[in-house]
Amino acid sequence: MRELILASRNAGKIREFKRMLAEMASDIEVMSLLDFPDLPDVDETGTTLQENAELKAVQITEATGKPCLADDSGIFIDALNGDPGVYSARWAGTHGNDQANNAKVLKQIHDLEAAHADKKVSRAAQFRCVVALAFPVGHPRAGDVHFETGEMPGEIIDIARGEHGFGYDPIFIPDGFTQTSAELSAEEKDRISHRGQAMRKILPVLVAGL
Ligand code: IMP
Repeated sequence: MRELILASRNAGKIREFKRMLAEMASDIEVMSLLDFPDLPDVDETGTTLQENAELKAVQITEATGKPCLADDSGIFIDALNGDPGVYSARWAGTHGNDQANNAKVLKQIHDLEAAHADKKVSRAAQFRCVVALAFPVGHPRAGDVHFETGEMPGEIIDIARGEHGFGYDPIFIPDGFTQTSAELSAEEKDRISHRGQAMRKILPVLVAGL
């Protein structure tokens, strides 16, 4: 079995990556940072998804000596000028507090709607994902980082719905659907999601190049 480390401790993301990789490349043994509890967290000091994905992939490859796949993702809300974007995971202060993050973006949209009662405030938003694959010393592509991207457009709703997914899924309806992305089955979400798209694009590199 070839090995791949997912540079994440986010259980929701790890579940999605493992499910997709099991379907797409079953000969790859997939581990995550949950299997390396002693590794320190990578500081996400970048100002773009690509910078943060690269930081995570390169540092974890250096620390483990194994190929590493990192993603950085977030939701970009038009009415909030693209916020929370790269700061999506910690928008309400604490990293990964999904309920507080959702409440904060809804309050920001409501405040805008109250301030502009005469015109309709756009609810449009996009989930975006950048995946980065870094190769360890000894690999022909050592030192190189391969990037792919994906995007899922939709709109923000007020009342959270659905039990699947994670993060902002309960308040996001993908374009062309009536359900939130937390109401879609895992497979339906993978088919249209930002992460699913990026994964399908990087799959040939994983299959041929690890
Ligand atoms: P990071 O990439 O670990 O820095 O965090 C990404 C954050 O963006 C997550 O913690 C969620 O808040 C949000 N996010 C990214 N992808 C999704 C998704 O598929 N559904 C819901 N929220 C997401």
